[in-house]
Amino acid sequence: MCGIVGAVGARNIVPILVEGLKRLEYRGYDSCGVAVHQDGALRRSRSTSRVAELDVQVAADAVQGTTGIAHTRWATHGAPAVHNAHPHFSSGPGADAARPARIALVHNGIIENHDDLRAELQARGYVFASQTDTEVIAHLIDSLYDGDLFDAVQQATQRLKGAYAIAVFCRDEPHRVVGAREGSPLILGVGQGESFLASDAMALAGVTDQIVYLEEGDVVDLQLGKHWIVARNVTTGRHERVQREVRTVHAHTGAAELGPYRHYMQKEIFEQPRAIADTLEGVQGIVPELFGDGAHRVFKEIDSVLILACGTSYYAGCTAKYWLESIAQIPTQVEVASEYRYRDSVPNPKTLVV
Ligand code: GLU
Repeated sequence: MCGIVGAVGARNIVPILVEGLKRLEYRGYDSCGVAVHQDGALRRSRSTSRVAELDVQVAADAVQGTTGIAHTRWATHGAPAVHNAHPHFSSGPGADAARPARIALVHNGIIENHDDLRAELQARGYVFASQTDTEVIAHLIDSLYDGDLFDAVQQATQRLKGAYAIAVFCRDEPHRVVGAREGSPLILGVGQGESFLASDAMALAGVTDQIVYLEEGDVVDLQLGKHWIVARNVTTGRHERVQREVRTVHAHTGAAELGPYRHYMQKEIFEQPRAIADTLEGVQGIVPELFGDGAHRVFKEIDSVLILACGTSYYAGCTAKYWLESIAQIPTQVEVASEYRYRDSVPNPKTLVV
């Protein structure tokens, strides 16, 4: 799971972007990058090293700006290499390498129809600089851009099939970042005269605790201290303005910091006794305490549980299966989510899917 941070501020936001990436490092990544609006142009710095190296690189290159986006990538399409690292740029159709970029974009997820979209955009003259599925989104938004980035992103999302959280900005609109999500997480951070985007609230700890959890299909327009959200109406397919609750979230950074450990897997291993003790604190082995307040009600309505997870959460799911079957007596299956996604399954309405 990669990480996204975006910001529109009145100060240099590069330190906030890089610090946000450091707090998202625990998710794992193979490359990272940052792009800003600087002196009327788009500038970026990308690296296949750690975020700490990117930090040194942006300082050496004097990358600064009040509007920008940043990303840690976990490659799905295209090798982990600098030219595939995000942010991706679009300079419009044509192969003129000297032409300044107009659109900068970061993406978390997978675009399933990237081949069709790439062929369509290539036929219109767009030249691709990477092997990623992500670059098609940057060119698609550029092809739809007519002076209003929010509008172009809303149109572009209607052509995308797959999972995405994106953050995008445009050379011609220096104080605006647009975000959208479908199937990948994205939150909005409301600051004092500033606005932020991130994959989770922890990335913005110390920056703002005023958080909006964006919902599936939301597109968000971030400007200086202002934001607008539109949601896709499932019946008409059109976007309509919505209000989402702003919550106060006290994300503590300790959980995301590496501390004395060499890497995050070592940290997870050594923190297990504490994590299990915290989880079980006060539990007397009774279903509601162990599985949550609503457990009795939910368990009455279901006849099985299906847990979909990847990596470490898959192993956590396997432990949950032992508990659900031995304590709650509910048949439980655990499946690797990335496999489940690509096979046909027969849904049972009485299965609780976690
Ligand atoms: N599919 C995109 C890529 O390979 C994004 C991967 C990610 O979520 O980091 O570049």
